Amino acid sequence: MSADSGNTKSTGSCLCGKITFAVSQFQPTIGHCHCSMCQKFHGAAFSTFGEVKLDHISWLTGAELLTSYTAQNHAVRKFCQCCGSSLVFESQYNRDAGTIEIALAAFDQLVALQPDAHIYTESKVDWLTIHDGIAQFKAYRE
Ligand SMILES: [Zn+2]
Ligand SMILES: [Zn+2]
Repeated sequence: MSADSGNTKSTGSCLCGKITFAVSQFQPTIGHCHCSMCQKFHGAAFSTFGEVKLDHISWLTGAELLTSYTAQNHAVRKFCQCCGSSLVFESQYNRDAGTIEIALAAFDQLVALQPDAHIYTESKVDWLTIHDGIAQFKAYRE
């Protein structure tokens, strides 16, 4: 990403519009995650989360509607209490790094960025074929 991207805020919202947020900068790597937990959380073939430092995200409205679900592996996922939009993923790695991951598809305005890998493809759904040519990892990035 260019140094200029810090000047352009990416903004997003949940489906009902009560939760809104702005991100000033993303961390460099963005993966499509095909793990079974992301599939269940999103109700979709895979998730795409961008990692963001806590200093680089502002919750503009509705932060009190973010509801947490903690999975058995201690990863926390957050969704809108009103409309169910799945918005946030937070693992122990993220807590140590001072970051969270936020669902890219929830952005209404997004700086130019490109996911660079598919991860956890060992649990990819059979009804999706990957044709985009970017890296694929059976589990986490090697
Ligand atoms: Zn909502
Ligand atoms: Zn996942």
